[in-house]
Amino acid sequence: MAKKACSIDGTMVGIFDHINLKDGIICFDCVKKLGFEKPLKNKKLLNDMTVDLVNAVLDGDLLLDDYIAEHDRMLTQATVQKLKDESAEKHQQESLNAPHCPKCGSKSLQVVGNHRKAFSVGKAIVGGALTGGIGTLAGFAGKKGKKVDVICMNCGKKFKM
Ligand SMILES: [Zn+2]
Ligand SMILES: [Zn+2]
Repeated sequence: MAKKACSIDGTMVGIFDHINLKDGIICFDCVKKLGFEKPLKNKKLLNDMTVDLVNAVLDGDLLLDDYIAEHDRMLTQATVQKLKDESAEKHQQESLNAPHCPKCGSKSLQVVGNHRKAFSVGKAIVGGALTGGIGTLAGFAGKKGKKVDVICMNCGKKFKM
């Protein structure tokens, strides 16, 4: 059986010492680096991760716990979606409208400058751009109807949203 390369660090692995990611594979070493003590126990979580997501966690851009929480929420959402046919289209629209950096396209955005009253609403966002999720940021910006200064956590570009 031919060995495959781990999509994260390129380690050559056999069929029994890696786990499939959504768009690649991950070796057990990388799984442990990620913070999962028991690779096989967290198979489902890993199966739903993309290579980008794994790299984001390894780079410290995303907390593993946040992913797990988000994953749970996604699963709940999926159940709800099964019951509601119409939500699929809505969901797609939402992801298209998700705020992102105009320069690099990253969705790791943070609201800057909390001198205005409105920003108290976005405390969660200021605390950690990723933990609140894109939805929070979008909802926040939309609800206020005001443009907010946002900084891209990836490339550092500042822009209004
Ligand atoms: Zn690896
Ligand atoms: Zn950017």
